[in-house]
Amino acid sequence: MIDHQGIGMTSRRTKERLIDRLKAEGIKNLEVLNAIREIPRHLFVDEALASRAYEDTALPIGYGQTISQPYIVARMTEIMIEHPTQPKYVLEVGTGSGYQTAILSRLVTRVFSVERIKGLHQQAQKLLRQLQIRNIKLKHTDGGMGMPEYAPFDAIIVTAAPEGIPLGLVNQLKTGGVMVLPVGTRDEQVLVRVIKTEEGYEKEFLERVSFVPLLGGVSS
Ligand code: SAH
Repeated sequence: MIDHQGIGMTSRRTKERLIDRLKAEGIKNLEVLNAIREIPRHLFVDEALASRAYEDTALPIGYGQTISQPYIVARMTEIMIEHPTQPKYVLEVGTGSGYQTAILSRLVTRVFSVERIKGLHQQAQKLLRQLQIRNIKLKHTDGGMGMPEYAPFDAIIVTAAPEGIPLGLVNQLKTGGVMVLPVGTRDEQVLVRVIKTEEGYEKEFLERVSFVPLLGGVSS
């Protein structure tokens, strides 16, 4: 039993309301909107918060972390999949609840996702298994260094904010590949699109965002 009681029934209507809101906020990609429709976000938050799962807001997932706001999940995913060379192999840094991982799994061939907090990694692993999402590979590790054993990737999505662009991650992109990430301090962050080139990388600042910080090391 993985459906929190009652929520499954009301979720269809509230989910459509969320989709309408995302469209109003400028999300146009139908594949992304469909993935958001298909993945039951209420299963990725604590049961006590399940009734708020289809609000366009970040929610706590324990360990001082949050599940990202649906708008930002949709926006980062849209930027990534609309990249001219459509990404197939994607790295996510910051599995958290596993919600963004689940969304990505619907849109690309394989998702690799790393999380530094063991409890969150295990919880996400269990839920994604229950949902029978199989084209993913999760790992409990410090993602600042990426996942060298599976690099290079077509795309990287970072769901916690470093203070600068991590070169270790840029190096794990294929040439022409794209990385979408928040960069900045806790108070001031901007969403950045990085494109790896033969010589190095190009960057473009997109919009202001607010994420938890990217921290070093692993935690139990
Ligand atoms: N994508 C997640 C967002 C979770 S918040 C979701 O949809 O729920 C960001 C996550 O990044 C947190 O779980 C945090 O523990 C993790 N994180 C922070 N620094 C990290 C690092 N260096 N390596 C891996 N994960 C990290």
